[in-house]
Amino acid sequence: MDCVFCEIVKGNILSEKIYEDEYVLAFKDLKPQAPVHFLVIPKKHIKNALEIKEEDKDILYNVFLSIQKIAKELDLKDGFRVVNNCGEDGGQTVLHLHFHVLGKRKLNWPPG
Ligand code: 5GP
Ligand code: ZN
Repeated sequence: MDCVFCEIVKGNILSEKIYEDEYVLAFKDLKPQAPVHFLVIPKKHIKNALEIKEEDKDILYNVFLSIQKIAKELDLKDGFRVVNNCGEDGGQTVLHLHFHVLGKRKLNWPPG
């Protein structure tokens, strides 16, 4: 399997890690779209939001707990955005479930 985020989890591709626990890894996005832009991914390979199963509930809970911890550490008290792109229409380019977290600038809504 050829998955860039699995390679990041294994340490075969370098990334700027900002958080790690048993379930998840968070690292800075290669092409940041805001002053703060990191990705939170499950260590387990899950293709996208359509593939999440009942057995993955601990992972998803920890994704959002880690976002909360990091947001406090990075002082994102003015708010931030969590984005999950799913499938072709959603603009998903890396086929390993991931959540973008963007902050430290006023973000537009709706997205393009
Ligand atoms: P998607 O478009 O699938 O929602 O987002 C994929 C994101 O992964 C993009 O924002 C892209 O910049 C980021 N990305 C792709 N490859 C790498 C990589 O090797 N390292 C890091 N840190 N980010 C990556
Ligand atoms: Zn993967």
